Amino acid sequence: MRVLLVEDEPAAAQMLAKGLREHAYAVDVAIDGDDASFRLATTDYDAVILDVMLPRKDGLSVAREARGAGSAVPILMLTARDAVLARIAGLDSGADDYLTKPFDFDELLARLRALIRRGIRAPLPERLVVGSLDMDTRSRQVSKHGRVIPLTTREYALLEFLARRTGQVVGRAEIAEHVWDQSYDPLSNVIDVYVQRLRRKIDDARGDSLIRTRRGEGYTLATTAA
Ligand code: CA
Repeated sequence: MRVLLVEDEPAAAQMLAKGLREHAYAVDVAIDGDDASFRLATTDYDAVILDVMLPRKDGLSVAREARGAGSAVPILMLTARDAVLARIAGLDSGADDYLTKPFDFDELLARLRALIRRGIRAPLPERLVVGSLDMDTRSRQVSKHGRVIPLTTREYALLEFLARRTGQVVGRAEIAEHVWDQSYDPLSNVIDVYVQRLRRKIDDARGDSLIRTRRGEGYTLATTAA
């Protein structure tokens, strides 16, 4: 899941981005409204966390413009405390939900999960079962035959992305856009490296992999090893 975080206050942005990354989100940070609009126009985000008070262009205008351009990306708006009018304006501008500052990080995570789950393009069940793999998308715990498989946040994010498209061929560009953030280097082989790591963790010692390579196309998560 790739999220755009729009927050001009550096300490808050850094803290939120770190927390979100620890919860397996790929996070891009925009520090003003123009930057946010540019990123929204060029990247297919799974959700946006959008502060209202921003330099250059406020969050309401960013949301309005995105909706005007046909974007259906889920938007969670951050508004000042007790600013009822700002919250109403936020929802009117096309935001899907709002949180008032200061907020509890766990609440932000819960709202974000709910928004992404409700998203038209990306329904996210709380439990994903693919063959012998059982994934709890809330706790991000993956088990196989009842045995928990320890995964890093990025490994989990990659597996969840493939699991939500079980049986489909998923290209590297699509994986990069939703599982990695702006630091992704298209010339690197980091996706292939992560696929290898995942295979070592989720596959049985003997037998073929659940993650199939489609040469020149990408990867497919299969429900049974070939
Ligand atoms: Ca602000």
